[in-house]
Amino acid sequence: LQDSCWYQLIAVKLDDGLAITIRDITVNKKSEIQLQAMVNLDGLTQVANRRCFNEYLEKEWKIHLDLQHPLTLLMIDIDYFKLYNDHYGHQKGDDCISRVAQCISMVVKRPTDLVARYGGEEFAVILPNTKIEGGLMIADLIQSAISSLFMPHEKSKVSRYVTLSIGVSCMIPKEKTTLKDLIHKADKALYQAKSEGRNQVSYG
Ligand code: GH3
Ligand code: MG
Ligand code: MG
Repeated sequence: LQDSCWYQLIAVKLDDGLAITIRDITVNKKSEIQLQAMVNLDGLTQVANRRCFNEYLEKEWKIHLDLQHPLTLLMIDIDYFKLYNDHYGHQKGDDCISRVAQCISMVVKRPTDLVARYGGEEFAVILPNTKIEGGLMIADLIQSAISSLFMPHEKSKVSRYVTLSIGVSCMIPKEKTTLKDLIHKADKALYQAKSEGRNQVSYG
């Protein structure tokens, strides 16, 4: 993309010939693409934002309904993050959210997968054409990746380091179900991971 150029070609028919104008529109086109990327990206973390998440999930839900393929969703939430902010301050809190986003992105590799910031200290991962086993594997890989960062969290009640709770859900979309069911299942699983002690993966 960096080295591509865009040209606008205008052909006007004159009597027995053509007048052709070629205009270099690379600058306009590149700013258009950058703007498009900006409306889909979260400013702090540079991963997809909530709006982009919604659009992508809607699109994938339809495709998976047609093909009857499994669609997996991960909901990820940083544990005791209010205590983190209170202790280290908002700026360090922001840095922590960014590092967690980058860490999740490193694990999630398929070009069709999407990592998004879902809320304040909450992330969502869409895994197209993936069964629950695959989702649980990715969730475990994210847990290992976070724990290997050893980001200090003195106030956490579950570890000396920053930890995550993850809820995983998987559905083959049917006519009578909606993507809200998939989100709801992942949310419930996340709630279960929290209530069973945090720093763990749960699925429903
Ligand atoms: P739990 O283990 O149950 O998830 O507890 P928690 O403290 O992480 O959850 P809670 O929802 O009570 O608190 C989330 C906190 O995240 C509240 C807010 O201070 C902080 N937060 C949300 N968005 C941002 C942000 O953009 N930057 C920073 N620094 N903090 C944020
Ligand atoms: Mg939260
Ligand atoms: Mg939290």
